[in-house]
Amino acid sequence: MSWPSPLSRTMRTMASNLSAYPWHALLTNQGVEVGESGDQLVAVCPFCRHHRTSFYLSPEKGLWICKFCNRKGNGPKLISLLLGVSYRHAAELLEGRSIPYATETEEREKPTIQLPEEYEPLELPEHVGNKRFWRYARRRRLTLDLVEAYDVGFCRSGLYGGRLIIPFYWKDELVSFFARDITNKLSRKVMTPFGGKQGQFLFNLDRLNRKDVIAVEGAFDCLVLPSRAFASSGKRLNNTQLIQLVQHGGIELVYLCWDEDAVRDASEMTARLSTFVDVKLVLLPMTDPSHLGRDAVLRAVAAAERTTATTRARLQV
Ligand SMILES: [Zn+2]
Repeated sequence: MSWPSPLSRTMRTMASNLSAYPWHALLTNQGVEVGESGDQLVAVCPFCRHHRTSFYLSPEKGLWICKFCNRKGNGPKLISLLLGVSYRHAAELLEGRSIPYATETEEREKPTIQLPEEYEPLELPEHVGNKRFWRYARRRRLTLDLVEAYDVGFCRSGLYGGRLIIPFYWKDELVSFFARDITNKLSRKVMTPFGGKQGQFLFNLDRLNRKDVIAVEGAFDCLVLPSRAFASSGKRLNNTQLIQLVQHGGIELVYLCWDEDAVRDASEMTARLSTFVDVKLVLLPMTDPSHLGRDAVLRAVAAAERTTATTRARLQV
């Protein structure tokens, strides 16, 4: 008696689940219209969003290709990229025929975040109430133009008392804010609101319109180069942010402007990101671009090392 090997059993399960998977819903959840042509699904490509319907998917085989940007692959790869889950998890979802994040996407569109009640805009002239906040803002290289363009404010009292506030808008919706201690004495340097969605968006990405962009950790760092940088609000890009970056469109090169530890942590993400765009690592002498200033950061960016297979291998050590 011969038993099928575990591998062939897996492959058979997959084949039977492929055509049952809700491919149509997976794509429409990305905001693209989906049509049919013969036994194929045809859509605007969820990655490059080219205006022609260049994306073809065979539900029976699970194979897909965009004839414009030439991205292609199998079913688990598509699920992995669109939902921001690992390949293994994507294969499980395929087997379970589920799109688990559909509800979460709807929920996160509800605007629920508000600025603190004590928030006041940082304005001129300086007076006894805002002077110390202006002093801190200048030290972090925030100009009046930036303060106005980003609605920077402050709280004199309350939960966020003694903190400078940088609101985090994503396309006109407030998704979070960063409340920075200006005394450097509080135990939590940066506070974000309960329910803040800073992990689901990339600060300032919605304002960028260039092929080469710079990824930094914090909003202050980002505002050193407001026309070029976006902030991840953390030590790395998470999957949701990674997808947002890929779907932003038009980006060809990303400089990862993080400290060395963060770059090492993010090596897997670097590898994933580099399947879509060129990635260059910018190793900074200090962890904080806003203390270095615009010119120093740009010099480091210019000297950045191109991520190659060798570099990635070294980073994973
Ligand atoms: Zn495409």
